[in-house]
Amino acid sequence: MRRGDGHLNQDLDPDNRRPQDHCGVFGVWAPDEDVAKLTYFGLYALQHRGQEAAGIAVSDGQGILVFKDVGLVAQVFDEKILAGLRGHIAIGHTRYSTTGASSWENAQPTLSETPPGLDGAAGASVALAHNGNLVNTAQLRREVEALGLTQHRGPISTTDTAVVSALLSAYPDLSVTEAAMRLLPRLEGAFSFVFMDQDTLYAARDAHGVRPLILGRLERGWAIASETAALETIGASAVREIEPGELLAIDDHGLRSLRFANPKPRGCLVEYVYFSRPDSVISGRNVYASRVALGQALAREHPADADIVIGVPESGIPAAIGYAQESGIPYSVGLIKNSYIGRTFIQPTQSIRQLGVRLKLNAIREIIQGKRVVVVDDSLIRGNTLRSIVRMIRAAGAIEVHARISSPPIKWPCFYGIDMASKAEFISTGLDVDGVRRAVGADSLGHVSMDGLVRATEQPESRLCRACFDGDYPTATPEQRLSELERVAPTPS
Ligand code: SF4
Repeated sequence: MRRGDGHLNQDLDPDNRRPQDHCGVFGVWAPDEDVAKLTYFGLYALQHRGQEAAGIAVSDGQGILVFKDVGLVAQVFDEKILAGLRGHIAIGHTRYSTTGASSWENAQPTLSETPPGLDGAAGASVALAHNGNLVNTAQLRREVEALGLTQHRGPISTTDTAVVSALLSAYPDLSVTEAAMRLLPRLEGAFSFVFMDQDTLYAARDAHGVRPLILGRLERGWAIASETAALETIGASAVREIEPGELLAIDDHGLRSLRFANPKPRGCLVEYVYFSRPDSVISGRNVYASRVALGQALAREHPADADIVIGVPESGIPAAIGYAQESGIPYSVGLIKNSYIGRTFIQPTQSIRQLGVRLKLNAIREIIQGKRVVVVDDSLIRGNTLRSIVRMIRAAGAIEVHARISSPPIKWPCFYGIDMASKAEFISTGLDVDGVRRAVGADSLGHVSMDGLVRATEQPESRLCRACFDGDYPTATPEQRLSELERVAPTPS
């Protein structure tokens, strides 16, 4: 089903963007349930992971129906649309684009059909939803061309997900499980997939397990989600994480686990700092608790003489509470966020655009006036947001502003599905901490150390991806893979 071409949400504040995640995924196998509605509410709980597009695919055992569109989950679906999505298996997706243009075509789930088998058996339909980003997409795209898939099926969308979707259904004589076991070991980068054919729900996670993916249990059925909070929202209990390098298949015969790669866990550190919901649990650690611990570490590492501690909503608040607990400085709510204005279908006027961060945040003068303020934020990318916030706090009457950041300086781009910025755009590229302090106009600035961050997650350092902080990537980069490819088969100029 397709509904219009939709225009995209306009970000009112593009220069002040925070790092954006590349999607939330959800899947459910439950013969006695309204699987489309469960998926809708699962996606609703994962809205923070992607606000550009949303989609649901359902199977009734005969065929797969997909409905997707640009917009928030609640904008894309209504009762009537959900009532038309009947079946016993569903997958869903909320999208934030980091690869491929933002358009209906690039919304997910993708749907592809395998050709009929050599014995004349009917082909399967495969719907796929992806959180992450592959680094060897160019190589895979050449494979799609070499197999002649674009000739038979017409143009294939520019995303890594569309390429995987095409390759999953490229082999008429392999079952979907066999095709997945052949394809998954050749994918490099970060992927947490949920996919389905008419009869089976699948989940797969890359060998490093960069992005989260959790298995949940319903009374009569199974659910899979990017975060535990989405499982709880639909009344499922979290069973365990999908293991790095594992393919799960769920059908009438139960649940099967297959291993397509040896696990080399390197979960994303920034999920703890910023991306995941505070009520989610990653590798046994509650995200809220890790953010409070980050604030406590910040207070020990970078104390301040101040009257109040405030947090930048939403994800800076638990760290601000931790800072206040550890330092003994009272915590106050000094900044208020309008959660609803960040992304809208209305194009802002130039004068509204110039208000910048004020559209999203406002300071409470009565709390701030005459005070020495510690303001805690979760990350520092380009520095524009912090500069605006420091200015706003001073304008509300603060006599000193001490900025504290609950992550180390970000200096390297992410290739695993997080849209941060390029190296040249990071404020910490080429400036030391004091240079950054002057650039944002704060009286003092302190970042939590890498050691403090790792401790707050309660995970061994060797099992975490820290690449955007230290450049130690768990895989090759897309540039490395591209230059290897060009050495083998130069692109015609
Ligand atoms: S590079 Fe940073 S944001 Fe990207 S996966 Fe690694 S830790 Fe997470």
